[in-house]
Amino acid sequence: MAAPKVAVVGAGVIGLSTALCIAETCPSCSVTVLSDQFSPNTTSDVAAGMLIPHTYPGTPIHTQKQWFKETFTYLFAISNSAEASEAGIHLISGWQVFKNTPKEELPFWSDVVLGFRPMSEAELQKFPQHRFGQAFTTLKCDCPPYLLWLEKRLKATGVQMYTRKVADLWELHSEYNIIVNCAGIGAHQLVGDEKLFPVRGQVLKVHAPWVKNFIRDGDGLTYIYPGIHRVTLGGTRERESWSLSPDPGTTKDIFDRCCSLEPSLRGAQDIEVKVGLRPSRQCVRLQKEVLSQGGVKLPVVHNYGHGSGGFSVHRGTAKEAARLVGECIAALQGSSSRAKL
Ligand code: FAD
Repeated sequence: MAAPKVAVVGAGVIGLSTALCIAETCPSCSVTVLSDQFSPNTTSDVAAGMLIPHTYPGTPIHTQKQWFKETFTYLFAISNSAEASEAGIHLISGWQVFKNTPKEELPFWSDVVLGFRPMSEAELQKFPQHRFGQAFTTLKCDCPPYLLWLEKRLKATGVQMYTRKVADLWELHSEYNIIVNCAGIGAHQLVGDEKLFPVRGQVLKVHAPWVKNFIRDGDGLTYIYPGIHRVTLGGTRERESWSLSPDPGTTKDIFDRCCSLEPSLRGAQDIEVKVGLRPSRQCVRLQKEVLSQGGVKLPVVHNYGHGSGGFSVHRGTAKEAARLVGECIAALQGSSSRAKL
């Protein structure tokens, strides 16, 4: 068969990283990214981009750990290269603090991040309302620069990118051999996935260059994540809310919560409010499916539903999606050589 044509639907962190992994592992493929929105207009642009995993209840922990480890290793290498500032990747140290000692004192990812340890009594004095804490160093992606860096890499490897809204995966059947669905929350409509739901998140991006350490309340709701240029203050988790409009009351609440963790933020300037819909599911949908219509078959690889943790696991899930695309290609090549006999 001629070079297999692969269409990746979606240009958030999942679509772009998946397209890159496919182009890297299958250089003979022709890869195209189709998306109705590109950076800076995706959910991925709103994210803080911290590498602190979210737990997916429906995915085995060893799989989640593997995805996180692969992502951490990949981004750590970028952070240690001349590309780091362009790609918006940097190491960051800080604290996760708890009002009460958590049930799980050692999260599954504690030996992937660097220097994970309980906070000392002296460190905890910074947080008078908290009784327990963990200190570690992790990585952070400044999301729009990272997405642009991925796009640049894709262009350099010959991947085409087009603005296009896909109403039905079947509309791509005559142009492409394999479809990869990385539509994020858009998969709710695109493939009618009722298990996928939005978890609305509102964040503030502020100018506060003196804040150098991350601070995360262990409940995951309040966080301060310094990036290269802006500090992200969060946040909210509103299940089943589809609203993309910022709520002024929520903005004040987020700001007050963050100031109670880091009082110096009262001097923050240039507050910008962003809202994104986390594409949430019990587990990431990372699987092959062969659609069939009137005897015609269309191989699809799904890679969506990363909820609150897409940046933390994107490279790991992209590698697995690329492996599944490889299996689809092998099956297509097998059936085309059988047809010739
Ligand atoms: P998206 O970025 O939404 O991309 C989906 C793409 O598909 C878009 O390009 C869209 O235009 C396209 N698309 C959809 N439907 C169609 C269609 N029918 N036809 C064509 N194109 C289509 N994760 C972390 O790991 N760390 C964090 O610190 C973090 N912070 C976050 C903070 C907030 C406030 C939010 C909202 C999320 C945060 N996340 C974080 C989660 C992370 O943002 C998501 O898991 C991730 O962005 C999902 O990426 P995605 O590519 O699947 O989705």
